[in-house]
Amino acid sequence: MSPAPYDTLNLAGYVGDLPGAVTENRDRVARAMGSSDLATMRCVHGAAVARVHGPSETEAVDGLVTTNAGLVLLALGADCVPLAIIGSNGMAIGVAHCGWRGLVGDVIGEAVNAVAALAGSVQEVVLGPAVCGACYPVPPERVDMLRDAVSRGVCTAAIATRHDGQPGIDVRAGARARFVELGVPARIIRFVGGCTVEDQGLFSYRRDGVTGRQGMAACIVEGT
Ligand SMILES: [Zn+2]
Repeated sequence: MSPAPYDTLNLAGYVGDLPGAVTENRDRVARAMGSSDLATMRCVHGAAVARVHGPSETEAVDGLVTTNAGLVLLALGADCVPLAIIGSNGMAIGVAHCGWRGLVGDVIGEAVNAVAALAGSVQEVVLGPAVCGACYPVPPERVDMLRDAVSRGVCTAAIATRHDGQPGIDVRAGARARFVELGVPARIIRFVGGCTVEDQGLFSYRRDGVTGRQGMAACIVEGT
């Protein structure tokens, strides 16, 4: 169990938490999913997606895919959205980390393509907790960068107008719009958890600065 401010289930090894506590926390996640093997990554707010076959911590990618049953994939986040993509019939799964830079770089497109290449199509998408548009004010230049990089539909979904008139970015709404744009039906896209800034039970980098990372984990379970 991690000490404050990383309590209770910080899953990131790069935020100042005790390494032994992080290992134990990750083991708990794997065990909860009936496994002892876990693959995660060191995200860089990019769009690279790696295929993994066993326990690992891949550097400099923001997405992982696998066809290996029993291998837990873990994406981390604390305001950016950690998400899971389940391929048809559980033939392949993927996880990714997406913030505003991920929208610009299209990590979702890369991850969907990687899962679809292995499984044919996508069966389900789960978007974890993330900062909402009201809690994430951004400078106008960032809105312009987003406008230049993504479609009008994704932009419209992602950009929120806050009460004070300043623009905000709702990463999860933008991510959902991107999935739909890629042909993933809206009815198979689920949200879990709320706004990381508003929910004191979640880690939020924007709210706390020094803090842990929660995660989205996915695993192909054999025999199902
Ligand atoms: Zn919020």
